[in-house]
Amino acid sequence: MDPYQPLYCLGLSTNVVGACIHDGCQHSPFMCAQEDCTCQNAHRGHTTTMLRGLFERCNRTPELDEANRRGFKAMEQMLNQLVETAVALRNEHTRLATDRVLAARHRETRDKLIERDGNHRFTGDKLHQLLRELEQPRPAQYPYWLSHEAIFERLTPQVLHGLQELVRDTWRFEGVFRLDGKNVKVEDFKHVGAERKLEGYGTVYDWSVRTVVLNGCTSDDWPGVLKRLAELSCVTGVQLSDCKLGEKDLEPLFKMEHLEKLSLGN
Ligand SMILES: [Zn+2]
Ligand SMILES: [Zn+2]
Repeated sequence: MDPYQPLYCLGLSTNVVGACIHDGCQHSPFMCAQEDCTCQNAHRGHTTTMLRGLFERCNRTPELDEANRRGFKAMEQMLNQLVETAVALRNEHTRLATDRVLAARHRETRDKLIERDGNHRFTGDKLHQLLRELEQPRPAQYPYWLSHEAIFERLTPQVLHGLQELVRDTWRFEGVFRLDGKNVKVEDFKHVGAERKLEGYGTVYDWSVRTVVLNGCTSDDWPGVLKRLAELSCVTGVQLSDCKLGEKDLEPLFKMEHLEKLSLGN
Protein backbone atom coordinates (compact mmCIF):
# COMPACT_ATOMS: atom_id res chain seq x y z
CA MET A 1 0.00 0.00 0.00
CA ASP A 2 1.08 3.59 -0.65
CA PRO A 3 2.40 5.43 2.37
CA TYR A 4 0.03 8.11 3.67
CA GLN A 5 0.10 11.33 1.67
CA PRO A 6 -1.53 14.47 3.07
CA LEU A 7 -3.60 16.80 0.85
CA TYR A 8 -1.54 19.38 -1.00
CA CYS A 9 -2.20 22.46 -3.14
CA LEU A 10 -0.98 23.19 -6.67
CA GLY A 11 2.14 24.81 -5.16
CA LEU A 12 2.70 21.53 -3.26
CA SER A 13 2.08 23.13 0.12
CA THR A 14 0.52 20.68 2.55
CA ASN A 15 -0.79 23.51 4.70
CA VAL A 16 -4.19 23.26 3.03
CA VAL A 17 -6.92 25.56 4.38
CA GLY A 18 -9.45 25.76 1.57
CA ALA A 19 -10.68 24.21 -1.65
CA CYS A 20 -12.04 25.28 -4.99
CA ILE A 21 -15.55 23.97 -5.70
CA HIS A 22 -15.98 25.86 -8.97
CA ASP A 23 -18.20 24.35 -11.65
CA GLY A 24 -15.89 23.13 -14.42
CA CYS A 25 -12.56 23.82 -12.70
CA GLN A 26 -10.07 21.12 -13.71
CA HIS A 27 -7.17 22.00 -11.37
CA SER A 28 -6.34 20.16 -8.21
CA PRO A 29 -8.77 21.89 -5.83
CA PHE A 30 -6.88 22.28 -2.56
CA MET A 31 -5.51 25.69 -1.55
CA CYS A 32 -3.06 26.95 1.01
CA ALA A 33 -3.19 30.38 2.67
CA GLN A 34 0.02 31.64 1.01
CA GLU A 35 -0.86 34.77 -1.06
CA ASP A 36 1.93 34.24 -3.61
CA CYS A 37 1.34 30.51 -4.14
CA THR A 38 0.42 29.18 -7.61
CA CYS A 39 -2.77 27.69 -6.17
CA GLN A 40 -4.13 31.20 -5.52
CA ASN A 41 -3.55 32.21 -9.12
CA ALA A 42 -5.04 29.06 -10.62
CA HIS A 43 -8.32 29.46 -8.73
CA ARG A 44 -8.64 33.25 -8.97
CA GLY A 45 -12.30 34.18 -9.40
CA HIS A 46 -13.44 30.63 -8.63
CA THR A 47 -15.92 29.63 -5.97
CA THR A 48 -13.92 28.46 -2.98
CA THR A 49 -14.70 27.25 0.51
CA MET A 50 -12.86 26.72 3.77
CA LEU A 51 -11.70 23.14 4.21
CA ARG A 52 -13.62 22.78 7.47
CA GLY A 53 -16.85 23.87 5.80
CA LEU A 54 -16.23 21.42 2.97
CA PHE A 55 -15.86 18.53 5.41
CA GLU A 56 -19.03 19.59 7.22
CA ARG A 57 -21.00 19.65 3.99
CA CYS A 58 -19.60 16.29 2.89
CA ASN A 59 -20.50 14.68 6.17
CA ARG A 60 -24.22 14.92 5.51
CA THR A 61 -26.20 12.08 4.03
CA PRO A 62 -28.48 13.14 1.19
CA GLU A 63 -32.08 13.63 2.34
CA LEU A 64 -34.49 10.91 1.28
CA ASP A 65 -38.12 11.44 0.41
CA GLU A 66 -40.90 9.99 2.55
CA ALA A 67 -41.51 6.87 0.43
CA ASN A 68 -37.79 5.98 0.43
CA ARG A 69 -37.48 6.55 4.17
CA ARG A 70 -40.49 4.39 4.95
CA GLY A 71 -39.37 1.61 2.64
CA PHE A 72 -35.89 1.57 4.18
CA LYS A 73 -37.33 1.53 7.69
CA ALA A 74 -39.79 -1.27 6.93
CA MET A 75 -37.07 -3.40 5.35
CA GLU A 76 -34.77 -2.80 8.33
CA GLN A 77 -37.53 -3.67 10.80
CA MET A 78 -38.31 -6.83 8.91
CA LEU A 79 -34.62 -7.84 8.91
CA ASN A 80 -34.31 -7.09 12.63
CA GLN A 81 -37.34 -9.27 13.32
CA LEU A 82 -35.72 -11.96 11.24
CA VAL A 83 -32.61 -11.85 13.42
CA GLU A 84 -34.68 -11.88 16.62
CA THR A 85 -36.76 -14.79 15.39
CA ALA A 86 -33.65 -16.76 14.47
CA VAL A 87 -32.10 -16.16 17.90
CA ALA A 88 -35.34 -17.11 19.68
CA LEU A 89 -35.60 -20.25 17.58
CA ARG A 90 -32.06 -21.25 18.46
CA ASN A 91 -32.68 -20.66 22.17
CA GLU A 92 -35.87 -22.68 22.06
CA HIS A 93 -34.08 -25.51 20.33
CA THR A 94 -31.22 -25.49 22.84
CA ARG A 95 -33.68 -25.52 25.74
CA LEU A 96 -35.69 -28.39 24.31
CA ALA A 97 -32.61 -30.41 23.50
CA THR A 98 -31.09 -29.88 26.96
CA ASP A 99 -34.37 -30.56 28.77
CA ARG A 100 -34.54 -33.85 27.03
CA VAL A 101 -31.12 -34.90 28.19
CA LEU A 102 -31.51 -33.78 31.77
CA ALA A 103 -34.87 -33.00 33.35
CA ALA A 104 -35.19 -29.47 34.66
CA ARG A 105 -35.29 -30.48 38.34
CA HIS A 106 -32.02 -32.39 38.04
CA ARG A 107 -30.44 -29.59 36.07
CA GLU A 108 -31.20 -27.16 38.88
CA THR A 109 -29.57 -29.44 41.44
CA ARG A 110 -26.51 -29.80 39.27
CA ASP A 111 -26.21 -26.06 38.55
CA LYS A 112 -26.58 -25.12 42.23
CA LEU A 113 -24.03 -27.75 43.19
CA ILE A 114 -21.52 -26.47 40.66
CA GLU A 115 -22.12 -22.92 41.94
CA ARG A 116 -21.67 -24.25 45.50
CA ASP A 117 -24.82 -22.35 46.42
CA GLY A 118 -25.42 -22.92 50.14
CA ASN A 119 -28.89 -21.38 49.91
CA HIS A 120 -30.18 -24.21 47.82
CA ARG A 121 -32.02 -26.93 49.68
CA PHE A 122 -29.95 -29.96 48.80
CA THR A 123 -30.97 -33.36 50.07
CA GLY A 124 -29.20 -36.68 49.84
CA ASP A 125 -32.03 -37.94 47.69
CA LYS A 126 -31.69 -35.05 45.24
CA LEU A 127 -28.01 -35.87 44.76
CA HIS A 128 -28.85 -39.53 44.44
CA GLN A 129 -31.48 -38.79 41.77
CA LEU A 130 -29.11 -36.48 39.93
CA LEU A 131 -26.31 -39.03 39.80
CA ARG A 132 -28.66 -41.76 38.73
CA GLU A 133 -29.99 -39.55 35.96
CA LEU A 134 -26.52 -38.63 34.78
CA GLU A 135 -24.96 -42.06 34.95
CA GLN A 136 -27.75 -44.23 33.72
CA PRO A 137 -27.50 -44.84 29.99
CA ARG A 138 -30.86 -44.38 28.29
CA PRO A 139 -31.98 -45.08 24.78
CA ALA A 140 -32.76 -41.62 23.47
CA GLN A 141 -35.26 -41.09 20.74
CA TYR A 142 -33.98 -39.11 17.77
CA PRO A 143 -35.99 -35.87 18.03
CA TYR A 144 -36.00 -34.67 14.39
CA TRP A 145 -38.06 -35.66 11.40
CA LEU A 146 -34.97 -35.19 9.23
CA SER A 147 -31.67 -37.05 9.31
CA HIS A 148 -28.59 -34.96 10.01
CA GLU A 149 -27.69 -35.23 6.32
CA ALA A 150 -31.11 -33.96 5.31
CA ILE A 151 -30.82 -31.05 7.73
CA PHE A 152 -27.63 -29.97 5.93
CA GLU A 153 -28.62 -30.87 2.44
CA ARG A 154 -32.30 -30.04 2.37
CA LEU A 155 -33.37 -27.81 5.20
CA THR A 156 -30.33 -25.52 5.22
CA PRO A 157 -30.52 -24.40 1.58
CA GLN A 158 -34.30 -24.24 1.75
CA VAL A 159 -34.28 -21.91 4.72
CA LEU A 160 -31.18 -19.85 4.04
CA HIS A 161 -31.16 -19.55 0.28
CA GLY A 162 -34.94 -19.36 0.09
CA LEU A 163 -34.90 -16.56 2.59
CA GLN A 164 -32.19 -14.61 0.82
CA GLU A 165 -33.93 -14.91 -2.48
CA LEU A 166 -37.26 -13.96 -1.04
CA VAL A 167 -35.86 -10.78 0.47
CA ARG A 168 -33.42 -9.80 -2.30
CA ASP A 169 -36.18 -10.33 -4.80
CA THR A 170 -37.93 -7.28 -3.38
CA TRP A 171 -34.84 -5.09 -3.79
CA ARG A 172 -34.01 -2.99 -6.79
CA PHE A 173 -30.97 -0.99 -5.86
CA GLU A 174 -29.23 -1.66 -9.13
CA GLY A 175 -30.01 -2.02 -12.77
CA VAL A 176 -32.88 0.47 -12.83
CA PHE A 177 -33.39 2.42 -16.05
CA ARG A 178 -35.78 5.26 -15.39
CA LEU A 179 -37.46 7.86 -17.60
CA ASP A 180 -39.55 10.67 -16.15
CA GLY A 181 -42.01 12.88 -18.03
CA LYS A 182 -40.52 12.05 -21.40
CA ASN A 183 -41.92 11.41 -24.83
CA VAL A 184 -40.63 7.87 -25.11
CA LYS A 185 -39.31 6.40 -28.33
CA VAL A 186 -38.17 2.90 -29.26
CA GLU A 187 -34.59 4.22 -29.57
CA ASP A 188 -34.54 5.10 -25.87
CA PHE A 189 -34.09 1.40 -25.14
CA LYS A 190 -31.44 0.77 -27.74
CA HIS A 191 -28.67 0.38 -25.17
CA VAL A 192 -30.68 -1.96 -22.95
CA GLY A 193 -29.81 -5.60 -23.42
CA ALA A 194 -27.79 -4.59 -26.47
CA GLU A 195 -25.17 -6.84 -27.94
CA ARG A 196 -21.57 -6.00 -27.21
CA LYS A 197 -18.60 -7.43 -29.01
CA LEU A 198 -15.90 -8.48 -26.61
CA GLU A 199 -12.60 -9.52 -28.07
CA GLY A 200 -12.07 -13.24 -27.69
CA TYR A 201 -15.50 -13.83 -26.23
CA GLY A 202 -17.66 -13.46 -29.30
CA THR A 203 -21.00 -11.76 -28.71
CA VAL A 204 -22.13 -10.99 -25.18
CA TYR A 205 -25.17 -9.16 -23.97
CA ASP A 206 -25.36 -6.25 -21.62
CA TRP A 207 -27.74 -7.52 -19.00
CA SER A 208 -27.23 -4.80 -16.47
CA VAL A 209 -30.71 -3.27 -16.77
CA ARG A 210 -33.16 -5.37 -14.74
CA THR A 211 -35.93 -2.90 -14.17
CA VAL A 212 -37.46 -0.27 -16.43
CA VAL A 213 -39.41 2.55 -14.80
CA LEU A 214 -41.48 4.93 -16.89
CA ASN A 215 -43.03 7.68 -14.86
CA GLY A 216 -45.40 10.30 -16.30
CA CYS A 217 -44.26 9.50 -19.82
CA THR A 218 -46.04 9.87 -23.13
CA SER A 219 -45.29 8.27 -26.47
CA ASP A 220 -46.32 8.62 -30.07
CA ASP A 221 -45.55 4.95 -30.46
CA TRP A 222 -46.64 3.00 -27.37
CA PRO A 223 -47.10 -0.24 -29.38
CA GLY A 224 -43.52 0.01 -30.66
CA VAL A 225 -42.11 0.96 -27.25
CA LEU A 226 -43.91 -1.83 -25.42
CA LYS A 227 -42.96 -4.36 -28.07
CA ARG A 228 -39.30 -3.36 -27.65
CA LEU A 229 -39.66 -3.61 -23.86
CA ALA A 230 -41.18 -7.07 -24.22
CA GLU A 231 -38.19 -8.18 -26.29
CA LEU A 232 -35.67 -7.25 -23.61
CA SER A 233 -35.00 -10.58 -21.99
CA CYS A 234 -32.71 -9.04 -19.35
CA VAL A 235 -35.57 -6.93 -17.99
CA THR A 236 -37.49 -8.75 -15.30
CA GLY A 237 -39.38 -5.81 -13.85
CA VAL A 238 -41.41 -3.03 -15.44
CA GLN A 239 -43.07 -0.17 -13.61
CA LEU A 240 -45.37 2.16 -15.49
CA SER A 241 -46.84 4.97 -13.47
CA ASP A 242 -48.91 7.86 -14.73
CA CYS A 243 -48.42 6.94 -18.36
CA LYS A 244 -52.08 6.89 -19.38
CA LEU A 245 -51.98 3.50 -21.02
CA GLY A 246 -54.98 1.30 -21.69
CA GLU A 247 -55.21 -2.41 -20.90
CA LYS A 248 -55.04 -3.10 -24.62
CA ASP A 249 -51.74 -1.22 -25.02
CA LEU A 250 -50.17 -3.40 -22.37
CA GLU A 251 -50.81 -6.69 -24.11
CA PRO A 252 -47.21 -7.20 -25.33
CA LEU A 253 -46.02 -6.99 -21.72
CA PHE A 254 -48.46 -9.63 -20.51
CA LYS A 255 -46.86 -12.04 -22.96
CA MET A 256 -43.36 -11.27 -21.64
CA GLU A 257 -42.21 -14.61 -20.28
CA HIS A 258 -39.21 -13.34 -18.34
CA LEU A 259 -41.24 -10.58 -16.67
CA GLU A 260 -41.51 -11.28 -12.97
CA LYS A 261 -42.85 -7.98 -11.75
CA LEU A 262 -45.18 -5.56 -13.42
CA SER A 263 -46.37 -2.53 -11.54
CA LEU A 264 -49.01 -0.24 -13.01
CA GLY A 265 -50.01 3.00 -11.39
CA ASN A 266 -52.87 5.13 -12.70
ZN1 LIG B 1 -0.76 26.87 -2.40
ZN1 LIG C 1 -10.69 26.34 -9.34
